[in-house]
Amino acid sequence: MSDCIFCKIIAGQIPSAKIYEDELVYAFLDISPINFGHTLVIPKEHHQSAATIPEATAGRMFHVASRIGILLKRLDEFDAYNLHLADGTAAGQVVMHAHLHVIPRGAEDEFRWNWRQLTYPEGKMAEIAADISAKLKEKLAN
Ligand code: AMP
Ligand code: ZN
Repeated sequence: MSDCIFCKIIAGQIPSAKIYEDELVYAFLDISPINFGHTLVIPKEHHQSAATIPEATAGRMFHVASRIGILLKRLDEFDAYNLHLADGTAAGQVVMHAHLHVIPRGAEDEFRWNWRQLTYPEGKMAEIAADISAKLKEKLAN
């Protein structure tokens, strides 16, 4: 995609602090990190949504991201890491080339996710699970 900032990074038209690349994925430091070392792992092929990334590439993204997470823990004495992917604007996706964030975390890093926890009304949980489960079978078969 000619106007995609991450495609331009892969092509070397925009500079990046590269961590890793292979035939399927490219990893580089996020320019505005939550903590230093915050990395983005992206497919080399342009995909707006994670849902269209081929399984081998998606698997490689997860594999590389988790290895980077482990390394960040060792290198910088972080305690843990988050993997995060925003798929769609309402989910917080700003750059429309799918990307997996690797966010190193420390127990005292003072960053908090605003993760709310709702309660299902009676029967709703089973209803939603059955609905998703039936439709997922069709999706995975295609
Ligand atoms: P998201 O909100 O999940 O779409 O995240 C997009 C991320 O891309 C943000 O964390 C930005 O800081 C990061 N970002 C945007 N432009 C660049 C760039 N040129 N180099 C590195 N990271 C970038
Ligand atoms: Zn792109």
